[in-house]
Amino acid sequence: MPPPARFTDEKLTLGDFLDEILVVCPRCAERASVAPEPGADATMFAPRRLICASCGLTRRVKPGTVTLGARGTPRDAYFGEPLWLRASWGRKTLWAYNARHLVYLEAFVRAGLRSHSRTNPACSNCSLVSRLPRWMKDATNRKQILAMIAKLRATIES
Ligand SMILES: [Zn+2]
Repeated sequence: MPPPARFTDEKLTLGDFLDEILVVCPRCAERASVAPEPGADATMFAPRRLICASCGLTRRVKPGTVTLGARGTPRDAYFGEPLWLRASWGRKTLWAYNARHLVYLEAFVRAGLRSHSRTNPACSNCSLVSRLPRWMKDATNRKQILAMIAKLRATIES
């Protein structure tokens, strides 16, 4: 048997995945992308634009507030559009902002061993993985969750 994979919590937060958010285009329902305006700093409050390669829709926003996380349907932090990368399992919803986020979640779920870097003891519960719902940390759900992630990956790799 191969040794169990190890996942090290790099203490990434949702804020680390805001460089690109894949959403459902509000006009044509194809995949669109929300990213900082070209030339803008890639900070959380940098102006954003939504671009759809399928129908050509472009929208711009100067964010005053940024809504991270999800209540109900997971949406992007800037335009409030439903995320492209979301999958339901009963009443549970798995979601990710972009491919990198999905890969990060996959590594977490896949790993049998999880170690926490203790670089920021003042904020032990701030990282993305520390805030994942309990069902995503349950090893008995691993197979199901990995299947959901694989399905989502297929929608962005084609
Ligand atoms: Zn569109």
